[in-house]
Amino acid sequence: MAGVLYIVPTPIGNLEDITLRALRVLKEVELIAAEDTRHSQHLLAHFGIKTALTSYHDHNERAKARMLVERLKSGASIALVSDAGTPAISDPGYRIVVDAIAAGIRIVPLPGASASTTALCASGLPTDRFLFEGFLPAKAQERKATLQRLRNETATLVFYEGPHRLAEALADMLNIFGDRQVAVARELTKVHEEFLRGKLSEVIATLGEGEVKGEIVIMIQGSSGDAPVSEAELRATIRQLAGDGMGVKEISELLGERYGLSKKEVYKLALESKSAPPGD
Ligand code: SAM
Repeated sequence: MAGVLYIVPTPIGNLEDITLRALRVLKEVELIAAEDTRHSQHLLAHFGIKTALTSYHDHNERAKARMLVERLKSGASIALVSDAGTPAISDPGYRIVVDAIAAGIRIVPLPGASASTTALCASGLPTDRFLFEGFLPAKAQERKATLQRLRNETATLVFYEGPHRLAEALADMLNIFGDRQVAVARELTKVHEEFLRGKLSEVIATLGEGEVKGEIVIMIQGSSGDAPVSEAELRATIRQLAGDGMGVKEISELLGERYGLSKKEVYKLALESKSAPPGD
């Protein structure tokens, strides 16, 4: 008989968040496939688990998936773990699951920690519909293009982010989405767990210039689903920004990005507004 592939979530910080079932499965399987064996070894040692470990990661996942499926077919049961949280969720593991399904292997997922749901349930943002986007692209242009694509999405948006890119990501969100409600969850389940909630501009101001430390989930209110911006609204926003002292070029860049419009068109409107008499 073929073995079972167990998907086993591990804590995202606090070791008490491992489940009794996860501990039993990790003890009973023949092999634990871990993203980083040294990392998982610490967790297993903490709980006195001596099961054999083998590594899989993004770079060897295809070859390793084939090898693990052979072991499963020959009757061994295997637990898949990642460094933290649920395997295959913004972590390697997907390929192994796909190959195991194709080989007719039974897959048993265990419920457990994931940063996305842990953060979302305390965000204060609507949870009836949410879109998990994982990590935004590292390159600025690609990141902005992704945010543009999401501009009209009405579900709450959930992103994973590292501390060094938080400020850039929030600034791009403010430019592209406007001043929506946001929740930033940091260091969940750890000593310095923190939630920052408010308008994007407020959270950006609270964070200030310095780099924030730790692991982060950003959650942002979805679009209100309103029709695209009208010309009258656009003119009003231009007047308001110009009144705040912003230059024509800056305004066209900001609003072009926010509403997905041609910067040239916005520039033309901004120039017209500048030469129009006040109150026009
Ligand atoms: N598989 C994991 C899960 O189920 O949550 C996610 C792994 S992904 C490589 C790592 C990202 O998850 C981090 O960059 C951060 O965005 C988020 N994350 C993981 N642990 C976290 C924590 N304790 N607090 C906040 N975010 C966390």
